[in-house]
Amino acid sequence: MSKKLLTLQDELRKIAKDQGADLFGVADLTVAHEFVCSQGGEYLKRFPRAISIGVRLLDALVDELPRHEEPMVVFTYRGLYNTVNSRLDQVALSLSKRVQQEGYQAYPIPASQTVDSQRLTGAISHKLAAHLAGLGWIGKSCLLVTPGYGPRIRLATVITDASLEAGSPMDSRCGECRKCVDLCPVKAFTGIPFNPSEPREARFNANLCNQYQNKRRERLGDGLCGLCVYVCPYGTSKNGNNPRSHG
Ligand code: SF4
Ligand code: SF4
Repeated sequence: MSKKLLTLQDELRKIAKDQGADLFGVADLTVAHEFVCSQGGEYLKRFPRAISIGVRLLDALVDELPRHEEPMVVFTYRGLYNTVNSRLDQVALSLSKRVQQEGYQAYPIPASQTVDSQRLTGAISHKLAAHLAGLGWIGKSCLLVTPGYGPRIRLATVITDASLEAGSPMDSRCGECRKCVDLCPVKAFTGIPFNPSEPREARFNANLCNQYQNKRRERLGDGLCGLCVYVCPYGTSKNGNNPRSHG
């Protein structure tokens, strides 16, 4: 990689951290172009890299999610969720502008976006980009699980034609754990480990999750659930970021 690109990558990492991102990585999208284009369209093929950024959620709020029938809990979590998404979008814009200044294309994908209402997917899977960047693995919950913060993060992605240095995907550390599979109130997960050659439907029924959250929204005014984020032993404050209760 050229010195110019290495310098740019260091600068981008610093911009992300300075603006509040807790995680920064670069993914080689060429290894997943077929999947990426099947979700976001052929246009995305021109972008060989994805910059993945993550912002950690607050443990004090995530730890309260088992009480998510209480309006105070769900609305406070919603506030955090929206604020973190907004921060991610701001960081993604700053990174995109810096990349563009150097003469490359940059295309920020918002933190929370659904472009396919049938499959409930965005223009790109933030989780896949983060996984390919080496920030974590796709757990049985279909969430990105990071070694330090577990799934207690939100993600955004900037796709680019700047050939930045990419990380390597991380192997799953779920092991025999099934906590997310067992706790999900609508049994949306099959418990099958992530396999990039299988569709998401083999592991996760997104419609069951969506219907559950819609019903909660009708009843409570907001439907966020998040129990699969709460229960993962990775990243929990009680476990000091160490999955001692694993299994
Ligand atoms: S958010 Fe709740 S309903 Fe949806 S998959 Fe996670 S635990 Fe299940
Ligand atoms: S709760 Fe257990 S099985 Fe589910 S993602 Fe976390 S480590 Fe993996």
